[in-house]
Amino acid sequence: MNKLLIVGTVAFDAIETPFGKTDKILGGAATYIGLSASFFNLQSAIVSVVGDDFPQEHLDLLTSKNIDISGIEIVKGGKTFFWSGLYHNDLNSRDTLVTELNVLADFQPKVPQNFKDSDVVMLGNLHPLVQSSVLDQMEKKPKLVVLDTMNFWMDCALPELLEVIKRVDVITINDEEARQLSGEYSLVKAAAKIQDMGPNYVVIKKGEHGALLFHNREVFFAPALPLEEVYDPTGAGDTFAGGFSGYIAQSENISFGNMKNAIIYGSNLASFCVEKFGTERMETLSKAEVAIRLQQFKSLTQFDIEI
Ligand code: AMP
Repeated sequence: MNKLLIVGTVAFDAIETPFGKTDKILGGAATYIGLSASFFNLQSAIVSVVGDDFPQEHLDLLTSKNIDISGIEIVKGGKTFFWSGLYHNDLNSRDTLVTELNVLADFQPKVPQNFKDSDVVMLGNLHPLVQSSVLDQMEKKPKLVVLDTMNFWMDCALPELLEVIKRVDVITINDEEARQLSGEYSLVKAAAKIQDMGPNYVVIKKGEHGALLFHNREVFFAPALPLEEVYDPTGAGDTFAGGFSGYIAQSENISFGNMKNAIIYGSNLASFCVEKFGTERMETLSKAEVAIRLQQFKSLTQFDIEI
């Protein structure tokens, strides 16, 4: 079975959207990536860190989804990473209210020995030095390295971020962050500049407006499924990244054509994530529901025009 190595935060989140508010609930980039990638036939592991305030039931949830958690360090007396966000009325933009790095501040990641030969490495959102350190520990060159990041790291660790971006094949980033990273307003120009920084493939996520995949001069677009219920977009980007990297790891095909499919799988899984607060929807989602919605995705975008 192919292996997917996931790095990212495992966290507490407090979220406020126009539809409600939560106290500290399970969150984190690696959590969402792992839950999303669990829909594929592969072996996956998370490398991360939490404090001993982190409930065992959250770790048990990851294990129940067949995710190897031996790379999640538990720091005695430490506090888990905490993030709090407030969404605006359109749900497409949000303000970060609090980012407490806590145990993440001095984290030295350790890749489990049996994942040092992973086929795909998904570098989820956390400090770029941690992302680099994970790549340094790989004993076999992965077939594909995917990186996700956010404005927080552009603001506070840009040189380190630019170093790790040089080493990856695919970057997934949202539109606002692509503009910040490249200094270009046009997403076409932004994607070209970001490709010059290293990654051969640039995926720009546009929330409810879908996702764009750029490679050389080619571009592919996948819409987001129009949904009846949207409560909380938190983790949608990570769920997308988990679907994208999970599908590629399972299929072992890193062609541009297959990446288009990966974008659809990622968008499909992300469409479920936003239907409830936090990880709730992803926890109970079934493979049958995923398959039905994939069919809806196909119908949404298929047309027959003779040119
Ligand atoms: P997304 O909505 O996909 O951008 O991801 C939201 C998740 O990212 C939340 O569950 C947070 O815990 C996590 N997060 C927020 N800020 C950061 C950060 N600076 N570094 C890593 N993870 C973060």
